[in-house]
Amino acid sequence: MSTHPESSALVAFSGGQDSTTCLAWALERFERVETLGFDYGQRHAVELQCRTEVLSGLRTLSPDWAKRLGPDLLLTLDVFQQLGETALTHDVEISMTASGLPSTFVPGRNLIFMTLAAAQAYRRGIKHIITGVCETDFSGYPDCRDDTMKALQVAVNLGMQARLVIETPLMWLTKAQTWALAHSLGGQDLVELILEHTHTCYQGSRGDRHAWGYGCGACPACELRAAGWQQYGKKSASGGQGA
Ligand code: ZN
Repeated sequence: MSTHPESSALVAFSGGQDSTTCLAWALERFERVETLGFDYGQRHAVELQCRTEVLSGLRTLSPDWAKRLGPDLLLTLDVFQQLGETALTHDVEISMTASGLPSTFVPGRNLIFMTLAAAQAYRRGIKHIITGVCETDFSGYPDCRDDTMKALQVAVNLGMQARLVIETPLMWLTKAQTWALAHSLGGQDLVELILEHTHTCYQGSRGDRHAWGYGCGACPACELRAAGWQQYGKKSASGGQGA
């Protein structure tokens, strides 16, 4: 795909399946792509090591991508651990809470992340911010919704007197469709890279290698990834989305 010579994007990149697919999506569309990650004391801190492996893997996959992929920034945020206990930042059980949201919900997390991404994009002269948030198949997080992202775009543009664009390529895709998107962007090599090097499991487990990648196999994030992979496999086999 041809790109506009001055086009630029900042990808919120965690080292997971979704943000890796978004990064490949951006590398196909923008001439200059930078990445931003957050170390917020997550239990699954292993995903931060995955980031490095995925970045070098993407460079190996395509000379065009290697040329376009620019600096990576990892920001450290202690504030969520200071604020209080969630199942993503502390050793508490992953369950549904009285609010109807899972205990893995970190209030304000994506609001802060996207505001910091906007600040970095502003500083680097980048117009597009890409995030892998998704409303379909999602874990019930209100800060992943389309309306939240649209409102945030308005808020950061007003607050920074800017014209930043928040792009959410996965917003309306199922997990199976996200696998199919990865295949369409980088073929089987990208699918293999995602299987082998991205991290999804909330428990931070890399112990077992399943057909869909590494993880405990029992937490909500693993269940979602496994179900998506299975559905993607069925559709590919029937000549649906995989080609
Ligand atoms: Zn898991």
